[in-house]
Amino acid sequence: MAVFRFKALEEVLSRKPLEVIREHNLTSDYYGNKVFDRPKMKKYLSREAYRAVCDAIDNSSPIDRKMADQVAQGMKAWATENGATHYTHWFHPLTDGTAEKHDAFIIHGEDGGVVEAFSGKLLSQQEPDASSFPSGGIRQTFEARGYTAWDASSPAFIVDGTLCIPTVFISYTGEALDYKTPFLRALSAVDKAATEVCQYFDKTVTKVQATLGWEQEYFLIDEALYMARPDLVLTGRTLMGHASSKDQQLDDHYFSSIPTRVYRFMEDLENEAYKLGVPVKTRHNEVAPNQFEVAPLFEEANLANDHNQLLMDIMKKIARRHKFMVLFHEKPFAGVNGSGKHNNWSLVTDTGVNLYSPGKNPKTNLQFLTFVVNTLKAVYDNQDVIRASIISAGNAHRLGVNEAPPAILSVFLGSEVSKMLDLMEQAVVERKMTPDEKTALKLNIGRIPEIILDTTDRNRTSPLAFTGNRFEFRAVGSSANCAASMISLNAALAAQLKKFKTEVDALIEKNVKKDEAIFQVLKRLIIETRPIRFDGNGYSDEWIQEAHKRGLTNVTSVPEAIAAYTRKDVLKLFASVDVLNKNELESRADVEYEKYTMKVQIEARVLGDLAVNHIVPIAVQYQTSLMENVARLRDLFSAEEFDSLAEGRLDLIREVGGHISAIKQKVKDMVEARKKANVIDDHAAKAKAYEKNVYPFLDEIRYHIDKLELAVDNELWPLPKYRELLFVK
Ligand code: ADP
Ligand code: MG
Repeated sequence: MAVFRFKALEEVLSRKPLEVIREHNLTSDYYGNKVFDRPKMKKYLSREAYRAVCDAIDNSSPIDRKMADQVAQGMKAWATENGATHYTHWFHPLTDGTAEKHDAFIIHGEDGGVVEAFSGKLLSQQEPDASSFPSGGIRQTFEARGYTAWDASSPAFIVDGTLCIPTVFISYTGEALDYKTPFLRALSAVDKAATEVCQYFDKTVTKVQATLGWEQEYFLIDEALYMARPDLVLTGRTLMGHASSKDQQLDDHYFSSIPTRVYRFMEDLENEAYKLGVPVKTRHNEVAPNQFEVAPLFEEANLANDHNQLLMDIMKKIARRHKFMVLFHEKPFAGVNGSGKHNNWSLVTDTGVNLYSPGKNPKTNLQFLTFVVNTLKAVYDNQDVIRASIISAGNAHRLGVNEAPPAILSVFLGSEVSKMLDLMEQAVVERKMTPDEKTALKLNIGRIPEIILDTTDRNRTSPLAFTGNRFEFRAVGSSANCAASMISLNAALAAQLKKFKTEVDALIEKNVKKDEAIFQVLKRLIIETRPIRFDGNGYSDEWIQEAHKRGLTNVTSVPEAIAAYTRKDVLKLFASVDVLNKNELESRADVEYEKYTMKVQIEARVLGDLAVNHIVPIAVQYQTSLMENVARLRDLFSAEEFDSLAEGRLDLIREVGGHISAIKQKVKDMVEARKKANVIDDHAAKAKAYEKNVYPFLDEIRYHIDKLELAVDNELWPLPKYRELLFVK
């Protein structure tokens, strides 16, 4: 009997929603009370130290040791007053999630006692024993050291009695071992390049910041049902399970009222998020049953990403309080929508101008168009590395399967902006423009409405859509670290803006007027980037044909997509803006290949185990009961009667037998395929072997299991079914 499954179902039915007590009625009364933010720094630091930290935040200037000691004292005082007993350097290794190693604030005191202590040295730098984080070969074993170093631009915070200090994670030789290091470099590159381009339009701009507003999709599954599914526990997704007769066909989950137990979880989450200064704003049901979304107010991109990682972490913990498990896998259930993470991305100047927002006059609008067109070019020229930065074993299930953008990178601009680009393309002429021509063009540029309400993107099928005042990158997977794609987008844009500036300056040098030089270069870029502009249905087959004709790349193989990281043009791109060097890119690619291989390997093992130990024995048991029944029928009835009575059962016995044999054979073949792939040394070749020779067995074996699920007595089936995982609550 399927004891575990039925016990789990009973447990779910007995659940009561938890009461959640909010910290205070008004969010603003307790927002950020666990964050060492500016108001707290002001209170706990000397003026000197406070200024040093602000300078580090605003201008990335280094903090000297004496100052760091002062900051550490203030931080410790605040943290211990607020219940912290430990501290940790908190970083983003190239695995999923964040890493931390806690140390208590204690040192030996007088008379065998201890006292709380913390120093600038401990705040600024640490050497965790990090040899088992993936490094793709950057750290040789003889110097298997990685350092964490304080990122003063992201404030420290307290989680469960531990002071968490955001840090970068670099090797002994200074190379990036994490997401944050190249992210900070990319943000600084885009700051520099964008500021220089802004100077054409406004001399007072001295800094440009990238902003990020993520939308996080996730599933909530009852803890008891989750625990009864070893595939969910070990791989984050269901490796088998026949579709529920009803799932999302009626669209009755999307935006409908939130179930009470889930609602309490969300309240609890928001309460904790506000204490941690994470400005979550939006909550709603998503398309698939048991799928939800949370989104914050946007922030400076590095801080926003820290907040996303932090929130994902606390979501897991808070879900447990409510007897839920949260799933961040991109495709936990076949046949229903998977989860993505939309990255809304923009650039804002220190004068308060959003560079992706149309302005009030021809000049600010020309600046807006300059940034939009350069973004088009950056994406067009770097499609492959942008794809590499979002592809993964999990996300590959989502991309291009009629629920998420395809693996083709295209940009939606909407009719207003498209019209303007077409107009510019026509109005700018090769020869020197007459004053009338220029005036007419500027007048037209000035006509872009300040607020663009474009409804043509309703179907939301574009991977990168301009949505009025930002670009929304929708191809990112729900489990991803936002930094990965933000690094490639910002680095690509920084490199493109640099080229743009060089070209415009060269024309000015040749006595072309500044505005005309900008027009001319923009016109060329508009023509060159025509192929990447697409406002139609990105999920359609016609688009795949059309994109092919336009010469856009469409890479669906994970290892092939990862390979872009080490292509010559990509090495050149990242070197040109000092974001990642050759060694770092090669190691990143290696880490991605390995992650892919290991994920498929684990899935193959888990499926093989479940198929042979859980499913086949039950199928055999059921088949035996059928055979016993048939034998009894033969004893009791005449041959003629027997034939008509037993006919269906004999077919069923054959059918079940056929699936059992197929499963056994395929599991054996899959093991052989793994053995062959496992002896390959080269990371890329191994990942390819796993994709080509191991991965297909997952679907093939699943097919037979799912057929058995329909055939075998429901009372015997050992694993919670899709209809239970998605609907029993
Ligand atoms: P939708 O689902 O229609 O895309 P949401 O309200 O769910 O809209 O999400 C919009 C996201 O875009 C939010 O996270 C918001 O903070 C973010 N956003 C809005 N403006 C900007 C901007 N200028 N830069 C970055 N993110 C932004
Ligand atoms: Mg969105």
